Amino acid sequence: MNQPNILLVSLDSLRPDHLSIYGHSRTTSPNLQQLLTQDQTTLFKNAYATTTWTLPSHASVFTGREPAEHGIFDKGTKIDPSQTLPQILSREGYQTAAFINNGWLTQAGITDGFDSRFDIFEMEMPSNRITKQLNRLKIVLSLKDNGAQTTINQFINWRDSTDSWFSFLHFNEPHYLYNPPRSYQNTYLSGSAVPSILKQRRVFTKQGDFYADNTSVSESEMNTFTDLYDGEIRYIDDQLGRLFEYLKETGGWENTLLIVFADHGELFGERGLVGHHFCLDNALLHVPLIIKWPTASGSHPSVNESVVSLKHIFGTVLEAIGCDHPRSNALQQYDQESERDTCVFADYRTPTSLLNQYQEQVSEFDFSEYDVSLQAVQTQDYKLIADGDDELLYEITGANQEEKIPKEGNEEIYIRLQEKLDNRSQNLSLMDQEEQKDLNPNVRDNLEKMGYL
Ligand SMILES: [Zn+2]
Repeated sequence: MNQPNILLVSLDSLRPDHLSIYGHSRTTSPNLQQLLTQDQTTLFKNAYATTTWTLPSHASVFTGREPAEHGIFDKGTKIDPSQTLPQILSREGYQTAAFINNGWLTQAGITDGFDSRFDIFEMEMPSNRITKQLNRLKIVLSLKDNGAQTTINQFINWRDSTDSWFSFLHFNEPHYLYNPPRSYQNTYLSGSAVPSILKQRRVFTKQGDFYADNTSVSESEMNTFTDLYDGEIRYIDDQLGRLFEYLKETGGWENTLLIVFADHGELFGERGLVGHHFCLDNALLHVPLIIKWPTASGSHPSVNESVVSLKHIFGTVLEAIGCDHPRSNALQQYDQESERDTCVFADYRTPTSLLNQYQEQVSEFDFSEYDVSLQAVQTQDYKLIADGDDELLYEITGANQEEKIPKEGNEEIYIRLQEKLDNRSQNLSLMDQEEQKDLNPNVRDNLEKMGYL
């Protein structure tokens, strides 16, 4: 049997509790459900991101390290691509390609190691000013999607002429603004989507106002956000169905390791927040993770409840292709019997560029309360979040749910988690960093469109 092909599918900002396969009452994911009925497919119920936003989270996937080790917390620094998954697989003889819809993924060297990189957001935003405006208008009017169709078409064109491939498909549909194509707008929302989209633009393209309490989102407005978010998910699930069918029809299915995940979740008012910054709540850290293993790779459980991290994707891919690597902590090693004490870590530091942007938007407000540096450790049952010297203990009470508990009376748990954090701090293997020059105009344009700059 040839080496397996590798397909990573990243669904930006997708919370597992909004997928029917994780128990959502709406049927948002029939194609992923269909995938799970196949042999050799595992649903990971307790998978966690290493942080809360696109760039550092994908850096963990591609390096096998938490942010405290790879050191990417903002734009402006870069790691050595030779240590990333794409370049390692390229050295192993794979043809590698990335298809991306979020400009952050062009940063920090994390996708520089791919042989080919298709910046779909750039293709979708032509340099001609009139065509660009027309394109924007089509997205605002929901006459086209946010890049998913083009992404799959480009992947199909590329893959048709390639053996032994590693491909990374990134989809930005669930990322705000939640604005599905017109035929999906009323899948869950009753009435016009326009007021919700206008409100979202107000909140997300000038987030400084939201965090300075100059704008608020009512409960009924938030419900329209989640209705449209679910519509985006239903849409992207259909696009995944199209992708899976293509692979089955063209013989690319059985020998492919397919990993579907989200880079982080999304806040819909938890802790008074929206988007995906400023806390390590499990609404942000708990993520969907589904793996279809290559047919010849032995048997795998259909559900895995072990606590696992997205950083384990790195070792999982390397193990699947038989590549020896010191950081090969693979998901194959996590089984149902795994100890309840298995833990995962997460880090968050507020990007300086984000606070500067807010400050420019609302000069009179003091945003220093949002300038945080957090780390977390969690097991199946408990979680400790360290915010400087302040340490908060939580009990995990359900998917995406945690309740603060006092340290008094829970000393044993608290000390055990604290030791895990201390051990990690003492054993960090930091990656070298170099400076990265400023964003190119197309990336800047894409990030501005999403409200980041
Ligand atoms: Zn993201």
